[in-house]
Amino acid sequence: GRANLKRIAGSVIDGLGLKAKERGIVLRLSAPDSVPDIPGDADELTQVLQNLVDNALKYSRDQALVTVELSLITEPALLRLNLPQQRGAPAAIALSVRDQGPGIAREHIPRLTERFYRVDNARSREMGGTGLGLAIVKHIINRHRGRLEIQSVLGQGSVFTIYLPMDSLPAAPAPVAS
Ligand code: ATP
Ligand code: MG
Repeated sequence: GRANLKRIAGSVIDGLGLKAKERGIVLRLSAPDSVPDIPGDADELTQVLQNLVDNALKYSRDQALVTVELSLITEPALLRLNLPQQRGAPAAIALSVRDQGPGIAREHIPRLTERFYRVDNARSREMGGTGLGLAIVKHIINRHRGRLEIQSVLGQGSVFTIYLPMDSLPAAPAPVAS
C-alpha cells in the first residue's frame, strides 16, 4: 500500500492531544508543506508513531515540549545513513520524535528494542507498560526497509528518528555514445 507520514503524524497527534493537554505538554508537528507518499502500510506506520509519541509523553514531565518533525532526505545522506540503495536516485523521509524527558543512559540504548527490555529505574516501573513498544517499532521499520536511530542525553531528553525509503526515482538515461 501507500502511506503518507504527514497525515499519519497529524492523526496520531490528534489522538494523543488530550492526553498531552491534561498534563500541559505541548505536542507540536513540524513538516514541509508537501510530503510525498511512501510505499508502506499506513496502519503499521501509525502504530510506530503511536508508540514513539506515547513514550515521549509517558517519560516527559508535565509542561514539557514534545516535537514530531518530518523532513525529506536527499540522496547523499542515504549512504551515511546506511539505507538500502535502489536503482536510480533513492531518497528517504525522516521522522523524529523529540522529548525533554529524563534521557536514557548510553549502555541501555542498544537494548531498547529487545522485547520486554525496560530501563531499570523507578520511573519506568511506576509508569506501567510491558516493554514491547519499541520492539514492535523496530519490527515494523525493518519490514519497511527503514532504520531506527536513538539519540539521548541523560537529564536532557531523547530523539527517536525513523528513516523510511521513498520510491526510487527512474534511473537517469545513459549518456549517448558519440
Ligand atoms: P509499552 O510500550 O509496552 O507500553 P514501555 O514504554 O516500557 O512499555 P518500550 O516502549 O519498548 O516499552 O520502551 C522500552 C524502555 O525504553 C522503556 O521502559 C523506558 O525505560 C525506555 N524509554 C522508551 N522511550 C523513552 C523515552 N522517550 N524517554 C526515556 N526512556 C524511554
Ligand atoms: Mg512504550
